[in-house]
Amino acid sequence: MLGLMQDWSLVCHRIIDHAAIQYGKRKVITRSIEGPIVETTYTEIRKRALKVAQRLAKDGIKPGDRVATMAWNTWRHLEAWYGILGAGAVYHTVNPRLFPDQLIYIVNHAEDRVMMTDLTFVPLLEKIADKLLKIERYVIFTDQAHMPATTLKNAVAYEDWIAEVDGKFKWVEVGENDAAGMCYTSGTTGNPKGVVYSHRSNVLHSLAAAMPDVLGLSSHDVVLPVVPLFHANSWSLAFSAPMNGASLVMPGAKLDGVSIYELLDKFKVTVTAAVPTVWMMLLANLEQNNLKLPHLKRVLIGGSACPRAMIEKFQDNYGVRVTHAWGMTEMSPIGTAGFLKPEVAHLGHEDQLDVQEKQGFSIFTVEMKITDDKGKEMPWDGKTFGRLKVRGPGVSKAYYKGEGGDILDAEGYFDTGDVAHIDELGYMKITDRAKDVIKSGGEWISSIDLENLAVAYPDVAEAAVIGIPHPKWDERPLLIIVAKQGKKIAKGDLLKFLEGKVAKWWMPDDVVFVDEIPHTATGKIQKMTLREKFRDYRLPTAAE
Ligand code: AMP
Repeated sequence: MLGLMQDWSLVCHRIIDHAAIQYGKRKVITRSIEGPIVETTYTEIRKRALKVAQRLAKDGIKPGDRVATMAWNTWRHLEAWYGILGAGAVYHTVNPRLFPDQLIYIVNHAEDRVMMTDLTFVPLLEKIADKLLKIERYVIFTDQAHMPATTLKNAVAYEDWIAEVDGKFKWVEVGENDAAGMCYTSGTTGNPKGVVYSHRSNVLHSLAAAMPDVLGLSSHDVVLPVVPLFHANSWSLAFSAPMNGASLVMPGAKLDGVSIYELLDKFKVTVTAAVPTVWMMLLANLEQNNLKLPHLKRVLIGGSACPRAMIEKFQDNYGVRVTHAWGMTEMSPIGTAGFLKPEVAHLGHEDQLDVQEKQGFSIFTVEMKITDDKGKEMPWDGKTFGRLKVRGPGVSKAYYKGEGGDILDAEGYFDTGDVAHIDELGYMKITDRAKDVIKSGGEWISSIDLENLAVAYPDVAEAAVIGIPHPKWDERPLLIIVAKQGKKIAKGDLLKFLEGKVAKWWMPDDVVFVDEIPHTATGKIQKMTLREKFRDYRLPTAAE
């Protein structure tokens, strides 16, 4: 027997319709690329998104065609997203921090027909445009007054381009399982692979992400997504904020501590989200200038492990609740979030931090398991490490054009490439990337745990740990440190600080100091580059 409820397809543009109907006056505020702060509303965003959709259709963009956006978080980018979706086309967010060769590869692989971009990226695109084979036109997110002279093909200022239509347009009808968006993995090994989100997966993921135990969004919130739209759907915020009537504050191109603080303060932001490196810059600015965060209530931190010291600072010094979350491009992207369940809400300070340091429990629509290398399931005892695998309606079942082959196991789970343990309450803790874990004497050492401990040392700005080949133990940890500006750290003092905080055999065999640690396009430590750099490094213990 079938249910007798209506077939109301879960398509993304229904989100901006709802926002315009119920929360039409809620603001979207942007630090524009041109400089000034620009304010608009969800009603206006929808109106102009309709123009984008109409204009794309006029340019011959058909349902299923890919339209690239390489742009910062701004109101125009948001309009373009909904416009692309509403034309039945597929937004392809391109991460401008990728190497030019990777940019060329992904734009060609996705066969993008239009590129919508910011003034910032015009020079970069001019250098590679002759290799972007399928791009027919470049739309620059600006107006006539700021439009640069450019060699980009059919280049047009966004404002001129949408002014050519009247906005009397109906969203193009698509099915909820049709493609809505694309984002390529950062491809630390081999070529980046295309993840293809459907309308349905985006809508379901955003509903789940907005729930009280995850982002807890409502129309009382003002949300600042520092995490870019090009980093895995800005962790749902381009959908979940309008869906719940939360105002948006878009940071544009300026993501430094001073600029982010200005926006948090001036626009009374209540919820924000970004990777730990962004928060390192913000916290440094707050500390140096003795600033406070009276309006901010919650900060979502993910993308790489959030150090305990960062959680502590936000909560104890600034009264801002940290939700540590984990996910990946292939998962839409949120998989777990670290809200405190009633069982742990009463715990003391340190014990609560132990829970928050974990990456949290799976959100509704995500199922997870841990297995050994042969696929055997491991217990949820908070100790036993295993490969972390996930399934659900927001998780990829294949990469675009079948790259990478069959990516699911017999039960439909996707191997995340992360190593984790899960405790009895369901809280998961990432202990490493499968390829970064340090294998010492047949046992595993978590590089992430060591890094988190090292950054708690007062003069450490950033830490990375890699495995260095060792004749007896196979691999041993090397601790790589960037000291805070103007500070000098004695190796012995730092090691003494770690002593007693980890098992003796986890202690790094050596410490080296560097000026900078390389990061990937999504803000993760580039372990491959570090391993390459320290390939010939000989540990002092290697001669033992
Ligand atoms: P991306 O697809 O670029 O978002 O990268 C996904 C990967 O980032 C995951 O597979 C993890 O290795 C890592 N990651 C994301 N969030 C966290 C977190 N909170 N703690 C540790 N690693 C994380």
